[in-house]
Amino acid sequence: MRKELKTKATALVSGCTNMYTMFGLSEELKQQTRELNPIEALTFLADSFPGKIVFSTSFGWEDQVITHMIFENNLPIKVFTLETGRLFPETYYVWNRTMEIYGQPIHAYYPRQDLLEQMVTQKGPNSFYESVDNRKECCNIRKVEPLKRALAGNDIWVTGIRAEQSPNRQHMDNIEWDESNNLVKFHPIIDWHLDQVKDYIKLYNIPYNTLHDRGFPSIGCAPCTRAVQPGEDFRAGRWWWEDQSKKECGLHETHGVKLEVS
Ligand code: SF4
Repeated sequence: MRKELKTKATALVSGCTNMYTMFGLSEELKQQTRELNPIEALTFLADSFPGKIVFSTSFGWEDQVITHMIFENNLPIKVFTLETGRLFPETYYVWNRTMEIYGQPIHAYYPRQDLLEQMVTQKGPNSFYESVDNRKECCNIRKVEPLKRALAGNDIWVTGIRAEQSPNRQHMDNIEWDESNNLVKFHPIIDWHLDQVKDYIKLYNIPYNTLHDRGFPSIGCAPCTRAVQPGEDFRAGRWWWEDQSKKECGLHETHGVKLEVS
């Protein structure tokens, strides 16, 4: 069965990019990877889609676990991050420390200079506090457009999403078809609980963002992220000044529902 799947994957990579074929393949990959542990699944996908598989990290707990799996096993998966220019000093520290420890590159995608200069010139550096539209404009320039560039030409996008992070994610599978980006998304630790993530970090002495120890379960841009109180929702610290229903930035979308990400 694996051989058969690999043949299909090879056909896809060699030019069969019809959307319906991709969707069908994602359904098959869902079945195949369900039986594999995260490292086995990452290895299998990296082998099946050479040069067409990427992992996006924002250096949170979950992402550090997956980064460790990729780098420790020398998996040919490109690791990239979105350098929004507004990250916490702690995030830059763990980013640098991760590169030092593993000796591997982490590709940085910056916002387009012309778009950023125009927005900041016209609206100032903190326009995102003034309206949802302004905030979405900032997220689009600093995150969404660079993400599109990072994903372009790839077939598999690996993420650190976990089901318990949001009610919207409760019924997500480990593999999903991402129609807006025309690729398959793979969430290797979708069914992990936070304690498993923390135990893994501890077991392998993986560097992590110390903001997690200070009440930040989810870490994004510094001006748009605050600590949460015990009992508060996982995402309560993100864009906290906004109506809950508008808290997304368009990076992840599943079953027609947009999901906020780091
Ligand atoms: Fe801009 Fe805040 Fe979005 Fe970061 S999270 S891109 S600073 S609006």
